[in-house]
Amino acid sequence: MNVYLKKLAVPLCITMVIAGCIIWIILQNLYKNKGSIAEVRVSGETIMRLDLSENTRIKLNGEEGIDIIIVVENGGIYVEHSDCPDKICEKKGRITDTGDSIVCLPAHTVIEVIKK
Ligand SMILES: [Zn+2]
Repeated sequence: MNVYLKKLAVPLCITMVIAGCIIWIILQNLYKNKGSIAEVRVSGETIMRLDLSENTRIKLNGEEGIDIIIVVENGGIYVEHSDCPDKICEKKGRITDTGDSIVCLPAHTVIEVIKK
């Protein structure tokens, strides 16, 4: 190893460590919600589990003849449309974190983000 390379070795190592950290942080954010599952319950009964890393749109039949359209998008889940009168579930918006839930009382439906 010549002198020039020796001088370069330390800064190069530091740069690589920093670059590694940055890549790691980016990957962490990218896969933050990877492995999150949303559980859909109607009248206390789990009727489906949705992987939040797979974008999808599902029509659900709640109680009292209320249809709910659930959308899974980029690690989150939200109610796009519900036939319920209060629309509280629609107003709740997108949920992403474990423990977050969307409740539609008229349809006896609960959507909760759980960990796998
Ligand atoms: Zn509702």
